[in-house]
Amino acid sequence: MVKHTVTLIPGDGIGPEITTAMRRVVEATGVDIEWELADAGEHVMDECGTPLPEHVLDSIRKNKVAIKGPITTPIGTGFRSVNVAIRKALELYACVRPSVSIPGTGARYDDVDLVIVRENTEDLYAGVEFEQGTADVAELIAFAEERGAGTIRPDSGISLKPISVTGTERLVRFAFEYAIANGRERVTAVHKANILKYSDGLFLHTARRVAEEYADSGIEFDDYIVDATCMQLVLNPAPWDVLALPNLYGDIVSDLAAGLVGGLGIAPGANIGDEFAVFEPVHGSAPKYTGKDVVNPTAEILSSVLMLRHLDEPEAADRVFDAVRATLGSGERVTYDIKRTLTGSTEGSVGTAAYADAVIDNLG
Ligand code: NAD
Repeated sequence: MVKHTVTLIPGDGIGPEITTAMRRVVEATGVDIEWELADAGEHVMDECGTPLPEHVLDSIRKNKVAIKGPITTPIGTGFRSVNVAIRKALELYACVRPSVSIPGTGARYDDVDLVIVRENTEDLYAGVEFEQGTADVAELIAFAEERGAGTIRPDSGISLKPISVTGTERLVRFAFEYAIANGRERVTAVHKANILKYSDGLFLHTARRVAEEYADSGIEFDDYIVDATCMQLVLNPAPWDVLALPNLYGDIVSDLAAGLVGGLGIAPGANIGDEFAVFEPVHGSAPKYTGKDVVNPTAEILSSVLMLRHLDEPEAADRVFDAVRATLGSGERVTYDIKRTLTGSTEGSVGTAAYADAVIDNLG
């Protein structure tokens, strides 16, 4: 049996509870994992002077694989998002978020099986911003007008949307390689190239060029405008397969896709680069539920399914996924969010730890 060492980042808020649940489930499969604990987040600030101590990044660099709980980003403090910092520091350029219907979640659809592949490093999230009222903004406005690029109101704030050939090529290649490795049939590039000719236009043009490299792969390629994508996903999500999107659209469409299959409590994710991979749920640290043993650890547990596949442990991954399906499918030992969706009341729901027990019982 292969031994794996994985960096474990419990994170803030509900993070410790859901990562404990996940860890117990993974250990119950018998896979040999040594967890290297390296915590980050708001709660380590006082002790370490930073929410992201360097030893956390060093641990991931050494082990190549990490799984984390959510980390709080306080609003309006100048404290940068630790999640964004990890993705940038390790060049985790592809954010992978599968949305799969699982019976028993009370979701609107029972036939969704799609994967969002979101670009993680550029677009409006590059953080290149200019504050309203500053000399920088005045200069930028004058520059745009002098070059005939357009008029901008003087009282504007400005955020830049860089989209590069390099960033798009590696993202779309990743989407095709993912499709091939996971038995998928189609990659769809999602964009707004009809309006944003030099950013999304470049994304589309580059995606089409990369798709030509995969012409003989058996994977189909098409493209769709982002607003139409949202409408079609809501009307009829079943035909969608792998979606490759620039950062902002990927962020929004992945929450929409999570909503199609039952919401944030069950939506897993992964941030992957050429060297490292960090697995985490889509949801945040839900601070109001901290320490209450009530939240749903499914998204964290399903993130471990993605991790187990990445570690080349497909049998353990299938067992955990099937155990989650069985637990949700029975509708008995489920957390408050699922119970409320199913019955309109939280009565009869179980806590985080008891739900993990149910998943472990269903591992067989
Ligand atoms: P959130 O996802 O933490 O919570 C919103 C609501 O969703 C919760 O109040 C709860 O009702 C529900 N919810 C979330 N997770 C759940 C679960 N596992 N089980 C049951 N219900 C669940 O979103 P927020 O309140 O906007 O963000 C809180 C903090 O988390 C912020 O600081 C934000 O920056 C951070 N955040 C972190 C990550 C990450 O670490 N990757 C992602 C998103 C948000």
